[in-house]
Amino acid sequence: MQIKTEGHDESYSVYTVLKSFFWFERITEKPSDDPDDRDIAVSREYEKDGLLRVDTEITYRGTVHTGHAETSAADMPGDRLAYKRSEKDLIKKSAYDAAESALGHGLKWGILTGIRPAKIARDLTKTVSYEDARALLMNDYYLSDEKSRLILDISKVQSRIIENISCKDISLYISIPFCVSRCSYCSFVSHSIEKAGHLVPQYVSLLIRELRELSGLVSSLSLNIKSIYIGGGTPTSLSEGELSRLLSCINECFDLSSVSEYTLEAGRADTITPKKLTDAKRLGVTRVSVNPQTTNDEILMRLGRRHTREDFFRAFALARDAGFDIINTDVIAGLPGESLDSFRRTIDDIMTLSPENVTVHTLSVKRASTLNYDRVDMTREFDLVSGMLDYSSRILSGAGYAPYYLYRQKSTLGNLENVGYARPGTECLYNVYMMEEVMPVLGAGAGAVCKLLCGGGKIERIFNYKYPYEYINDPSKAAGNHDKLKEMFSAILR
Ligand code: SF4
Repeated sequence: MQIKTEGHDESYSVYTVLKSFFWFERITEKPSDDPDDRDIAVSREYEKDGLLRVDTEITYRGTVHTGHAETSAADMPGDRLAYKRSEKDLIKKSAYDAAESALGHGLKWGILTGIRPAKIARDLTKTVSYEDARALLMNDYYLSDEKSRLILDISKVQSRIIENISCKDISLYISIPFCVSRCSYCSFVSHSIEKAGHLVPQYVSLLIRELRELSGLVSSLSLNIKSIYIGGGTPTSLSEGELSRLLSCINECFDLSSVSEYTLEAGRADTITPKKLTDAKRLGVTRVSVNPQTTNDEILMRLGRRHTREDFFRAFALARDAGFDIINTDVIAGLPGESLDSFRRTIDDIMTLSPENVTVHTLSVKRASTLNYDRVDMTREFDLVSGMLDYSSRILSGAGYAPYYLYRQKSTLGNLENVGYARPGTECLYNVYMMEEVMPVLGAGAGAVCKLLCGGGKIERIFNYKYPYEYINDPSKAAGNHDKLKEMFSAILR
């Protein structure tokens, strides 16, 4: 589908709404030359009778559908930025109206297209009551009642977590971009040990060197590490010796007295050994993730995960035996071949283990993954995935879990979301700090990013090399980043 605009230049606003509806179609922001591209959306803005109006006309599969939104021109804000925001909302509402007519259904997230909707809810509840905020989300952003309540409930939990942050608090993220094998749905920059295992020893040595340098920066600026997160990839795909070296280095280099939580992603059951877990526990890790994604063996095999439902159960038991009293489990709704019943079985299986956190992702269909798209039914009713999320929400809420963080990605099935649930008091703080961008993050390793909050909502990012081989070939880049980081952080704290 191609987009054409008249009277405004906000084609991206039209695109984001249309992509949310027509997530299974190719959409171009500009008129295309492709003669087969007959679907077109025309968004036209004009003023008439004191009203600012936007008409959208969508020609989809040969049928024309129209949408309209308007507001009093005199009521538009005087401030340029605020004007632009209101104009964009009007354009989105008009596009939403037309797309809803074309497909015959609305969207639970309305015209909200950003990845962090909880922030909007937090901002609203600073000035209005819960009920007024709910009404605003439904009327101004077209959110469903269910999603409005979801983000308002999440914003309440997050506000409690965020209010305790001080200006010297930071999170430390350590990247291990290796996995034992690639899962077919994954687009993450992670190398399989089979192919890139020869890089691992040198990678770990350089990562340790980078962490030592970072520890000097943390102490020279008197920063407090609130959370440590070792993620990837699959950090437990390191050998027992390599993982123990890394954890020992963290323990020696950093002052852990201010750390509220220390997470190790032990995502794949086929990488978990008793020694890795007992070493992690002994060296200060307070929480681990053991992720089945599904407990359907046939699907696990097709995804290339190389572990079974039983392996997951065994790995989870090992984590408990090692003394971990906070364990997260990730699942994915909408995996190819997963029916509502088999998804329910996964959730029911997980409930028998009673983990403290459960994160329910919606499958995101990424071109960089190796998933066979012919086997993904792109047009399948989003009611199916929606039904999976509804089931998980109902079962988890009934079992005493509450949603505490949420993010949205592009190209998720049915334009649906990822939600983290936790038993009260066991929320993963890092997920909130990082996703809501409310705390600086110092990142180490390939693919890691340092994020600095510069005030007024401005965020500066300093990127490490993306791939392990680049990281290994040029270790001076990390050192240069640290100099920059120190300079910028000092200026912020001044
Ligand atoms: S284990 Fe995780 S990071 Fe690794 S390939 Fe699978 S989904 Fe991607």
